[in-house]
Amino acid sequence: MRNCRHFTVVSPGPSGAVRAVSCLLLVALTLWLSGCQTRQARHSSHEALSAVLWAQTSAEYAASALQAYRLAAVNLDLALADPHWTAALEQRDAYTGLPPAVIIDLDQTVLDTSRYNARIILEFGGHSNRRFAEWCRDSTAPAIPGAKGFLDHAAEQGVTVIYISARAEASRDCTTRNLRALGLPLERQAHLLLNDGTPSTRKTLQRARVAAQYRVLLLVGDDLNDFVSGAKSDPDTRRALLKAHAGRWGREWVVLPNPMFGSWEASLYGFDHSLLRDERLHRVLPQLQR
Ligand SMILES: [Mg+2]
Repeated sequence: MRNCRHFTVVSPGPSGAVRAVSCLLLVALTLWLSGCQTRQARHSSHEALSAVLWAQTSAEYAASALQAYRLAAVNLDLALADPHWTAALEQRDAYTGLPPAVIIDLDQTVLDTSRYNARIILEFGGHSNRRFAEWCRDSTAPAIPGAKGFLDHAAEQGVTVIYISARAEASRDCTTRNLRALGLPLERQAHLLLNDGTPSTRKTLQRARVAAQYRVLLLVGDDLNDFVSGAKSDPDTRRALLKAHAGRWGREWVVLPNPMFGSWEASLYGFDHSLLRDERLHRVLPQLQR
């Protein structure tokens, strides 16, 4: 009996060998096709697909970023003219005579890292610090629309630009290279505050250190964590934080849209980064409101 379904070949001889080879080719083709289908299904169903495509292709995303940076430039000028203006909750007394600075985030605020998120969809399936470090080393992220114009305007006004990012210290060289390649202001390495994994590099503490030396005119970012402590909490608490500072948005605080990643997303699965993708989705889906 020769039976491709059960992958058994009983009869020997040339015709049996030909049939056996045919069966194996058929099996290989079937496996390859099923692999393609699985791959396509994985890509088309990845939870970040629409978010990444929106950020990379839509006129609406670019318009939102331009709008945010135009607002930031107008508010920068207002802040410079008002010596009592400060954006940092961490700013203490006697700041009016301090030199002016803006504090600004990097990823999806100044640097468009959506190509890394595209790679997650196409190759990785999920984020890891090691993968991001590799991507950073090999890539030059473009600037977010409007970012360079705003930062150049700030620098021309004598305002120090200080970047506070969750990027790891290990990515300092590639980050510096990226900023230099785009011609973005980076007066000295002390103005690029990254995360070395210690509590002292949490953004709130870094803002406090900056606020001790500068009058902070604006905070610009894409994550609640770029503005206020407490972002690492459940969605209701995060919304309460938003409301508690309602008067600051669009004034001292300018936020850019980022539907791809951020503490907003991690709050939906309790910041448990050990969860697998399916486990995260299992936690997230019941939170849809209808
Ligand atoms: Mg960011």
